Amino acid sequence: MPGVFRGRPVISKEQVDEDKLRSLCPTEAITGSPISIDIGKCTFCGECSFAFPGKIHFTTDYKIATNDRKRLIIQQGDDYPFELNPDLIRNEISEMFHGSLKLRQVCAGGDNSCELELNACSNVNFDMGRFGIEFVASPRHADGIVITGPITENMAESLQICYDATPDPKIIILAGVDAISGGIFAGSPALNRQFLENHKIDLFVPGNPIHPLTFINGILELIRERND
Ligand code: SF4
Repeated sequence: MPGVFRGRPVISKEQVDEDKLRSLCPTEAITGSPISIDIGKCTFCGECSFAFPGKIHFTTDYKIATNDRKRLIIQQGDDYPFELNPDLIRNEISEMFHGSLKLRQVCAGGDNSCELELNACSNVNFDMGRFGIEFVASPRHADGIVITGPITENMAESLQICYDATPDPKIIILAGVDAISGGIFAGSPALNRQFLENHKIDLFVPGNPIHPLTFINGILELIRERND
């Protein structure tokens, strides 16, 4: 990835004014002492690394999707690639979807940034269709749904209807910080995120917006054949 890309952050042990560092973050993604960053909340605005370049550094590692929400929290000193938690992957996912996965996208109050990048996943540059992964026009033809946006009240019922119309077994993918945590809209009364409390999420794809390679790599890891 080019150097301007902000991927997996690394937090050094440099001593800094932690209160000042935390106060810079628009989404309260930075917490704790020692410092940690929740990239399920991070908008990748870069403010923390601009102000404290010796403390926080964003690498160009785009492989930051995982199926374990806890693994999105990066602790001080962590500097290793993301992995999916195999214990959380249902057997039917690799059995049924390896080599062919059809997805229905639901824009649940998104700003069209993640949606644009999901569109790019199918273009000639990224071409996820070569792996058998495609978006389809109807949930009836889908193996799962991809949710973008913070899930507004106005979209809550539509999201549930779309999910119910998707045949079993099915997966749920949250794409982007808004879908994962609400992003800068977290706590807004305009949101209704109850759907997420009632359903197991199979893949979290951080980013604001997501990068096509993060999305494709995360899905390939999720649906790959497992012999163990
Ligand atoms: S890059 Fe992420 S952690 Fe840093 S200030 Fe922005 S939102 Fe907060």
